[in-house]
Amino acid sequence: MLNTLRRIVQDVTAAASFTQALSIIVHEVRESLGIEVCSVYLLNSARDRYLFVANEGLNTDAVGTLSLGLREGLVGLVGERAEPINLDDATAHPRFHLIPEIGEEAFNSFLGVPVIHQRQVLGVLVVQQREIRRFDESEEAFLVTLSAQLATIIAHAQATGDIAKLTDEGTGVGTIEDREDVMFRGVAGAPGVSLGTAVVVHPAASLEAVPEKVAEDTTLELIVLERAVNAVRNDIQRISDQFAESLPAEELALFDVYLHMLDENALPGDIRKNIRAGQWAQGALKQVIREHVGRFEEMEDSYLRERGADVQDLGLRVLAYLQDIRAKKTHFPDNTILVGHEVTPGMLANIPADRLRGIVSVRGSGNSHVAILARALDIPAVMGAVDFPILEVDNQPIIVDGFYGEVFANPSRQFTEQYRLLAEEEREFTEELDELKDLPSVTRDGWRVRLWVNIGLPGDISRSLDRGAEGIGLFRTEVPFMTRDRFPSEEEQRLIYREHMVAFEPRAVTMRTLDIGGDKSLSYFPISEDNPFLGWRGIRVTLDHPEIFMVQTRAMIKANAGLKGLLRIMLPMISNTSEVEEAKALVQRAYEEVVEEGVNVKRPMVGVMIEVPAAVYQARQLAKSVDFLAVGSNDLTQYMLAVDRNNPRVASLYQETHPAVLGALREVARAAHAENKGIGICGELAGTPVGAVLCMAMGYDVLSMNATNLPKVKWVIRNMKQSDARRMLARVLRMNTAEEIQSFMHKQLIDAGLGRVLPSHHG
Ligand code: PEP
Ligand code: MG
Repeated sequence: MLNTLRRIVQDVTAAASFTQALSIIVHEVRESLGIEVCSVYLLNSARDRYLFVANEGLNTDAVGTLSLGLREGLVGLVGERAEPINLDDATAHPRFHLIPEIGEEAFNSFLGVPVIHQRQVLGVLVVQQREIRRFDESEEAFLVTLSAQLATIIAHAQATGDIAKLTDEGTGVGTIEDREDVMFRGVAGAPGVSLGTAVVVHPAASLEAVPEKVAEDTTLELIVLERAVNAVRNDIQRISDQFAESLPAEELALFDVYLHMLDENALPGDIRKNIRAGQWAQGALKQVIREHVGRFEEMEDSYLRERGADVQDLGLRVLAYLQDIRAKKTHFPDNTILVGHEVTPGMLANIPADRLRGIVSVRGSGNSHVAILARALDIPAVMGAVDFPILEVDNQPIIVDGFYGEVFANPSRQFTEQYRLLAEEEREFTEELDELKDLPSVTRDGWRVRLWVNIGLPGDISRSLDRGAEGIGLFRTEVPFMTRDRFPSEEEQRLIYREHMVAFEPRAVTMRTLDIGGDKSLSYFPISEDNPFLGWRGIRVTLDHPEIFMVQTRAMIKANAGLKGLLRIMLPMISNTSEVEEAKALVQRAYEEVVEEGVNVKRPMVGVMIEVPAAVYQARQLAKSVDFLAVGSNDLTQYMLAVDRNNPRVASLYQETHPAVLGALREVARAAHAENKGIGICGELAGTPVGAVLCMAMGYDVLSMNATNLPKVKWVIRNMKQSDARRMLARVLRMNTAEEIQSFMHKQLIDAGLGRVLPSHHG
């Protein structure tokens, strides 16, 4: 069963079109279950009807023309109940509704299974049989499993309009190119709206991700192919020469096999044929490799079956060169919206900063690293847009709404105008807020809150000072570590840290010790784990490698030499008090060593990040042994709610204002106050108007956020009273859900005349 399921899903995924995918489903289900009829009904949400879109075994003339109402017949009943209906004699059921034109009167038994994606019924898969018999449990289970796997493919087809296209009496909705205002939902990544041209970036060397495209210039594609194949031949020859002495002859022969496969008449010949038939080089390569690998995989002989992997490997090598040649030619227009299956921080680095206007990533979520970077760069981003058809939008106009996590492909003129106005309003508001730059963040009743910045990217210094940052609340030191091919030396680190400290002098600077692991990896220090977020992360790594910790803390302490600004060293991912004691001892040693070297430095402050539920419950003990606490609400939310901060499937459960998270924040603030220690927050929550108001009410004295959000938060704080914020907090702490809290707080801000900081509503 498992193999059959796998094969059907693979065939459906590889289908050239959605119509073909549907035919494969009905054909293969019918064959594998050995039954007479299989049909697919899909919901056309624009018309609230189930369309009869594929069939084998009935009168197929009705395919694409027949449709059923939402509550019509057994298909409607499966949809209503959202569960399978298995009947030995369908005609006897009160909801049976005969549709004479498809000729189903002869078929008695009926099994209908809903296709459900993200709690929505998208359609119904039906099998029928002449004989009066109930489909058995294994048949039902098979269909339920298959339907769950097909749901994502069908959801994608619905989002792209492929389902509406299946009927000519449909909604007038066509392909992405000729439709307007098609909306795709994702997760809000970085606020703001922007309009621009999609530039689709593909992960390096993934054949699966290569789109089918018509070659614009066949001759050019042939030349590019030849260059790529030659480059791979040279590489293989070089590797073979390198091993000539050390490898036995039969192993070396493998390289000859590779070179033969790259002979003019072998793979390249087939690829060229595809290019001449109109494909671009990467698509042509993908087709040829897929065919060859498929042929090898079908072979009986296990040795020959393994050779499929060699062809795949060769394909990837050629693809890497094809992409490299092409990447050098990628043109980024002035209003580039970067689109990709998984946009990574590295991809951002390849685009001139003044051309990047927006980001859309199919994977990832609001707290993925790339989203945090986008917020720091003030670039609207939508993450987790799982249904966004990235293979269809290259070079097309799109709108990114980073407030609501929505993307619009091919917007109409009217829509574009509406968004242009919205973007303009945003720009004007930002300009207005410029005036607050040098004013203190103090409430109308005289309560002072420190607004600091989270920093780490090159360019952050001027952006932060321009926006009136009063200190650095979180220096993510992993960023300079990520941009190298080895650990930076003490002196290299000292120079980077000092640049920041000098720029911020005499303001305080909070340096976090290296926080790698989880979703942050270093190419030269790979960590591979089943559960990276519960694994070797943050302080756990650096305590196991005191040499890395010592070099880093010595660099921090030295960088502060002769400056008035306070150096605060902050420890990430603390989950017990021993880690703090060990780390403190290392910091003390680093300090003594630096003093012994004759450098004139102050003893740094040491603080702990509260990111793990255990640390919330031990906040008082932790506060006793350090100088300050700072809540990392991004991780604290993920660990308290058991919701991966990077996973779009559970993004709606990632709620920073969940009552449990707010309760924890208040406990931590109380613990710090009881020990008379500083208390800050540096997760993304601190930079949202709602979060900032609630944290201020709890008595947080430092709110650290990205520079982009700082002016808005300052504006809110200067326009309200702390006593009002406390009243709001008292109400909020009695509420049961994040939704209730958000809508209450939004209303409070709007009533106080501060609604401009909330995302503007569209259309
Ligand atoms: C946090 O977890 O809230 C935090 C500030 O750290 P990071 O986002 O870098 O994990
Ligand atoms: Mg963290």
